[in-house]
Amino acid sequence: MTIANWLYQTALSWPNRPALYEGDVLRQTYADLLQATCNRAAWLRTEHGVQAGDRVAVFAKNAPEYIEALHACWWIGAVVVPINCKLHPREAEWIIRDSEAALVITQSGTLFAEQADIHEAALCMPVRQNEKLTPPAPVSDQDLAWLFYTSGTTGTPKGVMLSHGNVRQMTLCYALDVDAAHPNDHMLYAAPMSHGAGLYMFAQIRAGGAHLIPASHGFDSEEIIGLAKTRGNLVFFAAPTMVKRLIAVSKAQGYTGEGIRTIIYGGGPMYANDINDALACYGPRFVQIYGQGETPMTISVLGRDLVADQSNPRWQARRASVGIAQGAVTLAVLGADGTAVPPGVTGEICVQGPTVMQGYWKNAQASEHALNGGWLHTGDLGHLDEDGFLYLTDRSKDVIISGGTNIYPREVEEALLCHPAVFEVAVIGVPEPDWGEQVLAYVVFEHGQSASVPELDSWCRQHIAAFKRPKRYEFVKDLPKNSYGKVLKTDLRTQAASEAAPV
Ligand code: AMP
Repeated sequence: MTIANWLYQTALSWPNRPALYEGDVLRQTYADLLQATCNRAAWLRTEHGVQAGDRVAVFAKNAPEYIEALHACWWIGAVVVPINCKLHPREAEWIIRDSEAALVITQSGTLFAEQADIHEAALCMPVRQNEKLTPPAPVSDQDLAWLFYTSGTTGTPKGVMLSHGNVRQMTLCYALDVDAAHPNDHMLYAAPMSHGAGLYMFAQIRAGGAHLIPASHGFDSEEIIGLAKTRGNLVFFAAPTMVKRLIAVSKAQGYTGEGIRTIIYGGGPMYANDINDALACYGPRFVQIYGQGETPMTISVLGRDLVADQSNPRWQARRASVGIAQGAVTLAVLGADGTAVPPGVTGEICVQGPTVMQGYWKNAQASEHALNGGWLHTGDLGHLDEDGFLYLTDRSKDVIISGGTNIYPREVEEALLCHPAVFEVAVIGVPEPDWGEQVLAYVVFEHGQSASVPELDSWCRQHIAAFKRPKRYEFVKDLPKNSYGKVLKTDLRTQAASEAAPV
């Protein structure tokens, strides 16, 4: 079954229901959204020669045309490659080439104008109107819907292959465990639609709820509070850092969450103080999910009642957990020998179930490694308690999560190492109240050479996405290493923590 079928059926059942708002302005009913999707599907096929199975990359900010663009691809059986709009065009280009995309849709339509072999079109380009309304092309459950690039610790992005079956199961699990979608909801997209926020659109499409793209096309606390007051029944996904910022602004305004129905948070650690604060301000409007690209949004869940519970003797510990296994998956914490460890013992979090990816695009070795023994190995470390609640203790890799977005130290290190004055570098994440973590680079210069912080900063801006560049630098004579010559990042973290501690 194609995931585009939900839009088709809802538009037939409820053509006049509001489907899409931009800020407070109604842009499309479901009948309009269906028509726009069919227009765009015809445009993809006839103007751009896109065929079933072809990849279409979308490298754009959240926009009112985003939902129809994605559905137009599925309408003709094509595969969407959503690219984080914050990536550097060079990084996006790598993904476009690796996925062998037949077309890339960007805001301007001219971003890759100098690359003759990249076929590009603008997201808002006028398309022929009033194309015939046809149902979406049939596909099998295994056919790919969403090819999502995540970076490995090696710094090379990997394409996570998600099928129509994977996305359907994720959506069923959303409805079962995360939130029941209602026709009078407004699903707000404050976080990037190329990621979890976009993946979570389907339950609302099925329910005939409205989708709401903020006029800023991004995250702005005051705007969200304004929309909660005017539109009401807001539901949205937010990284923990967004929740924290929203609560700070709410407290300053004396606003207590009216008009917000549900905030789904996840994608990075939520600190106990922050969720306690959020609950004190808004009451029980929060659901936590833990997932990853390889089993999108679907590993564990801490439902609304569990987040807010104060009746269980262990409620405080539970609130700091990432909840219980979602209904569609089996969760296990495996030890080094590949067998399950008892409750309380830390091991690698592994997942089985119908949301687990088909593998990595053109990367059999990485797929085998990640799916070894029939389990998805998440690379996250944690433990279960006696009641089945999962606690994340650490990430086995050194990924930095800043503002809910993953930053892979190796990528940053490689960019800095290309600078002629840099001899060695180690990049770590250090706790930072607003963003969760910030990027700190320890730099050793070539003998007799040096570079200033602004120089290194502008170097990084030229080579990697701006959000990945270090916010702090420490210039050191050498890096701590073990006997194999491997840099000891744990020592650097301890050093950074002791430097940050008040004296
Ligand atoms: P991504 O594949 O970019 O979505 O990143 C997934 C990673 O984010 C996971 O493997 C975890 O390390 C982290 N993560 C996701 N959800 C949570 C959560 N609720 N709490 C803490 N870390 C999380």
